[in-house]
Amino acid sequence: MRIDIITCLPEILKGPLDTSIIGRAQNKGKVNIRIHNLRDYSTNKHKKVDDYPYGGGGGMILSIEPIVNCIEYLQKEIKYDEIIYMSPDGEILNQNIANNLSLKEKILILCGHYKGIDERIRENFITREISIGEYVLSGGELASAVLIDVVVRLLPGVLSNISSALTDTFQDNLVGCSEYTRPYNFRGLRVPKVLLSGDFEKISAWRQNCSLDKTKKRKMFL
Ligand code: SAH
Repeated sequence: MRIDIITCLPEILKGPLDTSIIGRAQNKGKVNIRIHNLRDYSTNKHKKVDDYPYGGGGGMILSIEPIVNCIEYLQKEIKYDEIIYMSPDGEILNQNIANNLSLKEKILILCGHYKGIDERIRENFITREISIGEYVLSGGELASAVLIDVVVRLLPGVLSNISSALTDTFQDNLVGCSEYTRPYNFRGLRVPKVLLSGDFEKISAWRQNCSLDKTKKRKMFL
């Protein structure tokens, strides 16, 4: 999968994308993630990428010109399946959207900042708008890191055991079951015995029950 990101603050993205599972996915060639600094597409001599809003009011708006310059430059080489704008009023990210996006080959993600972006970009260049929740972040960078994380961990070969991702909460409309690791007894807090029994059928039944119980308790998917 190829993922391009347009941002005016690339440094925010480096840590989340270069570390752990996403970092390893890149090193293994499972995903090719490229960060594009919006400032490189500004024709302004000070590399300015924002301006005051028409009509007044507080906050700066990312300008249309550098964003369109960047999108068009990338589109010369790549035909994107989706051009996504991270936006608080977009469709709210969930596991279904993640599953669906993980099947795409090429996506471009645009991160807004400050007060947002010139609306003409949204109306004319964006194919999909995604929110990571009903609150306002200062920029789309952390939101895009969340989106990329949920999508990339689903790509074949990224997790050493894909069944691990398929038994996570939200897949199959069930909350993931409780998990434990060593030691068996920590200050009298013991792991459920069945998990040490070696009886695969019993363990599987216990896990299924545990998932159902948690799903009911959390009143999810009902
Ligand atoms: N003025 C805008 C908010 C701008 S916040 C409004 O009222 O809707 C600055 C940028 O952060 C946005 O352009 C968007 O890219 C990003 N952003 C903020 N909250 C977000 C969220 N919940 N999900 C995804 N992106 C978000």
